[in-house]
Amino acid sequence: MQPKMLSLIIPVYYEEEVLPKSYERMDAVMRSIGMPYELIYVNDGSRDGTMSFLRKLAAEHPEVKVFSFSRNFGHQLAVTCGMDHAKGDALVIIDADLQDPPELIPDMVKMWQDGADIVYGKRTKRKGETFFKKLTASVYYRVLSSMSAYPIPLDTGDFRLIDRKVADVFLKMREKARFLRGMSAWMGFEAVPIEYVREERAAGHTKYTLKKMLSLAADGILNFSATPLELPLFFGIALGILGVLGLIAMIVCTAVFGGGCPQWLWLAVGFSLLLAVLFCFQGIQGFYLGRMYDELKDRPLYIVAEALNEEPVQK
Ligand code: UDP
Ligand code: MG
Repeated sequence: MQPKMLSLIIPVYYEEEVLPKSYERMDAVMRSIGMPYELIYVNDGSRDGTMSFLRKLAAEHPEVKVFSFSRNFGHQLAVTCGMDHAKGDALVIIDADLQDPPELIPDMVKMWQDGADIVYGKRTKRKGETFFKKLTASVYYRVLSSMSAYPIPLDTGDFRLIDRKVADVFLKMREKARFLRGMSAWMGFEAVPIEYVREERAAGHTKYTLKKMLSLAADGILNFSATPLELPLFFGIALGILGVLGLIAMIVCTAVFGGGCPQWLWLAVGFSLLLAVLFCFQGIQGFYLGRMYDELKDRPLYIVAEALNEEPVQK
């Protein structure tokens, strides 16, 4: 039997300052595990010294594979490219800046060997990040998790180990707006957390600008929750109930006290009822749109995690 192989996937964007140190630490850890491995660097359009360092590295070490994008496509697509090319039986996704400690990988591999399909890093603490980033991240993870139809673990980024069968499902999911940790939650499988302290960046500064962070946050919510599309229906129903109650109150008022209600109250109730009908129809359209979006994403219909006495035919 062939020995099992590990693939490390490292997206890089303007990381010339951190790469030499980062390579050294990652390579030492991978060597210590004693399994064959490959280091897959994906250069996401950096124009600094990143590529000249990676060229040198690849020339000296055959286990270093490098894919360089024509421009910046974003972190999630850089990781996707790494997954597309990885040959390992388990893949580990890790940031280049040493914020995710590579020294955790041997434990992750152990948990994988003990049967976990996904081992995801859960941050107990974040060092060297601004109060703003910590607060927005913490609120965001909680909002997302409450809105998503699938439980997306809290305080969890893309630092994780995935088994080959999980990677194969990623290969089938070709949706363009990608939110990998959500896709991973959607898939299911045996996922176990491993807690760690998120370190400070070893060098350089964050490449996740506010714009990129907002765009990733939007992808998370839009790809994994239809709630925003469906909300108008519930709003319409609530408004409709209020309108009907108002109408009843006014009819009773007129019948009991005579004299009738002011003209503008009838107008207000009529207007609310009309708006309620419009909101309801908008919400219903939202349900259709959500379904169309689901069809467009073209995800696999189901995922077989294990089959006995038969090879699964995955459609
Ligand atoms: N990265 C990338 N493309 C981008 C932005 C970032 O490949 O457009 C890489 C970056 O080099 C790093 C990882 O993604 O390896 C995480 O980025 P960063 O450390 O800047 O984000 P933060 O940890 O501050 O959220
Ligand atoms: Mg970082």
